[in-house]
Amino acid sequence: MDKQFNEVIVGFGGMGNWHRELIESGIDNLHLKGVYDIAEAPCRKAKEMGYHVYESLDAVLADPEVDIVLCATPNDFHKDIVIKALRAGKNAVSEKPVTLSSGELQEMIDAANETGKIFTVHQNRRWDEDFLTIKKIYDENMLGEVFNIESRVHGSRGIPGDWRNEKVHGGGMMLDWGVHIIDQMLQMIPGRIKSVYCTTTNVTNGEVDDGFTLVLQWENGPRTLLEVGTSNFVELPRWYVQGVNGTAVINDWHLNGKIVRITNWEKNDAIPIKTAAGLTKTMAPRTDETIATEELPIVHSDIKDFYRNVMDAISGKAEQKIKHHELMRVMKVMEAAFRSAASGQVVDFE
Ligand code: NAD
Repeated sequence: MDKQFNEVIVGFGGMGNWHRELIESGIDNLHLKGVYDIAEAPCRKAKEMGYHVYESLDAVLADPEVDIVLCATPNDFHKDIVIKALRAGKNAVSEKPVTLSSGELQEMIDAANETGKIFTVHQNRRWDEDFLTIKKIYDENMLGEVFNIESRVHGSRGIPGDWRNEKVHGGGMMLDWGVHIIDQMLQMIPGRIKSVYCTTTNVTNGEVDDGFTLVLQWENGPRTLLEVGTSNFVELPRWYVQGVNGTAVINDWHLNGKIVRITNWEKNDAIPIKTAAGLTKTMAPRTDETIATEELPIVHSDIKDFYRNVMDAISGKAEQKIKHHELMRVMKVMEAAFRSAASGQVVDFE
């Protein structure tokens, strides 16, 4: 019979409950053993739901039946909880961002190496279907050579009014959403990043960034632009990709979008556009005589594969999917982005 893995959720807020729901929806061999939170209200809620609530983190770590500790606390607690869990002989999964700096991340990696336990991070947006669809378009060269990729996440609610507002807790949108979209881009584009240029915004919050625009220049790859905004009452598309033979766009979370590709370079279908003050042929829209509009080749995914991989990695049946060196590279891009934003300069990278 396959081994059953017992998980405890540490930090039973929004994301802790997301993990609860995912596990309870059924993942073979994964069992939710209990919950721990420093605050009273989440503990009460967990008890009412019928879960075992541990009285302390030490009590979680002293339970020999616990295999996996999931850390879903605010960002500044991840490091200490993960290291403690690893040293207690547990496998540890941290929510993103793994921690606040590359130095802290190195301490976590060292603890994992010393103990031989699995330490990984819930970079769940590697399973986003919009990302996987764009990755397929890129990998399969469906637009010809791609020279520009823009990945944006836009909202208009400002930065949430909780710990995400405060620097000490690892607040700000770079660490919140940046970590996801940078991780996705680094998964998609192979090779060396030459330079990083970033500007940040402070529209609704003076203490931490409430948005940013980040340009990564690759040695042998397209220009990539990554942007998070929280004061965008009209949002730009989630993805916009330009190749020499066409353009792909994904407009929203529901994967509305299209590919438009050239079908005839020879024919001149330009009907000049006259505006109140001028005329342009260059910017005249193409007609169906020279382009084709196609549906996106949607790629489907199953986020439960994250936990399946964690269990396989613990059992030695597979490599962990979210790897330490990948986490470190994303962290270093974020640090370079902050340096660039502070100095106003392009920062050399790898
Ligand atoms: P939240 O504020 O809703 O919940 C955090 C919980 O942790 C609270 O119940 C709080 O009482 C508890 N807590 C705080 N310090 C603790 C400690 N030392 N020990 C035990 N419990 C403690 O926050 P959230 O939105 O659930 O975010 C939690 C983590 O999940 C963050 O790191 C966040 O970045 C991450 N997150 C990830 C995703 C994703 O898609 N992967 C989405 C949202 C949040």
